[in-house]
Amino acid sequence: MARIIDATPACDIPNGLAARPANPAAARGLEYNDEVKAAVDHLYEEVKDFVTPFEWPTIAPLIHAINKLKAEKNAVVLAHNYMTPDIFRLVGDFRGDSLQLAREAANVDQQVIVQAGVHFMAETSKILAPEKTVLIPSMEAGCSLAASITGEDIRLVKEKFPGIPVITYVNTTADVKAETDICCTSSNAVQVVEQAAKDWGTDTVILMPDQYLAKNVAANTDIRIITWAGACEVHELFNGQDVKDLREAHPGVMVLAHPECPPDVLTEADFAGSTSALANYVKVNSPNKVVLLTECSMSDNVAAENPDVEFIKPCNLCPHMKRITLENIYDCLTEMQFEVTIPEDIRIKAKKAIDAMLALPKMETPPDFKTGLKPVDLEVLSRAS
Ligand code: SF4
Repeated sequence: MARIIDATPACDIPNGLAARPANPAAARGLEYNDEVKAAVDHLYEEVKDFVTPFEWPTIAPLIHAINKLKAEKNAVVLAHNYMTPDIFRLVGDFRGDSLQLAREAANVDQQVIVQAGVHFMAETSKILAPEKTVLIPSMEAGCSLAASITGEDIRLVKEKFPGIPVITYVNTTADVKAETDICCTSSNAVQVVEQAAKDWGTDTVILMPDQYLAKNVAANTDIRIITWAGACEVHELFNGQDVKDLREAHPGVMVLAHPECPPDVLTEADFAGSTSALANYVKVNSPNKVVLLTECSMSDNVAAENPDVEFIKPCNLCPHMKRITLENIYDCLTEMQFEVTIPEDIRIKAKKAIDAMLALPKMETPPDFKTGLKPVDLEVLSRAS
């Protein structure tokens, strides 16, 4: 059985969860009755390490109602890896990282897409599937990276560096993507940087807005990179000393890190890669003891699929991802709220940047970043520069 230890009680619980009623299903008039028990009780096994037997009757009616609403409304739920296990495992129809969900959004048959993720992900779905109704359960589900840069910032950077390709991380708004030459994710960032340099015939690219991802990519390629002073507020909390402390407290632990972490974390880690690469590493290697330096629910979701692995779990929650709950997914499908729309001229330009990324050869196994390297210094732009 998966063991989750070291869950720090001081987790920063966002307001949406703190305000959750004791019985969220009953608060919406939903009962834990015989129909619900027959329909969903067998699913409890999948979340038993994360949902207590006392909690289950308070969420099971929501899970049943959401699954019925999906069929009635011809809807599909795209669930990001950072969703809590009740959402990720029990109502998510497609699950994965940003790149996997973007590919699914372009291909789903259903008319309605519910994005169980943050706002830029819902925008990406709308860009790729304009004929679909794309809903997000909470308009407050933002992102510190996406908020760090605007389309106007990109226009000014392009004026300053003519002829240099501009690559932006998918964790950006549609407005930013519209000014971009090609997008990337943490799964394909090195591949995109090298391809863009080749296609533009340059030895330099601009990779924004995550300065840590850019520095970690720079350590894995000979291409010169200019970046932006943005960061993920979850991953920037880790540092190299944390890795040393974890090793001392948990001898033999394998340390896996996401490339949005600062470079000194990757210097100390055993393995680094996108959320898909981290999940794949655990599945293939089945380490005895592992720690994932990334968002908390990601560890829960990987733990649920690897019951023989012991997980050490530092608790860094993304407050934006945690705005999405079973309750607001239920409200979203009941009220058909909140619809994500994008002006058509921006959507068309943004789609070009995403299509350029999706046109690159699909990698069978998510690639990893080298660990143990010395951090690389880059030119970091900001509004002040
Ligand atoms: S984990 Fe970081 S990058 Fe992802 S949505 Fe939260 S703030 Fe944004």
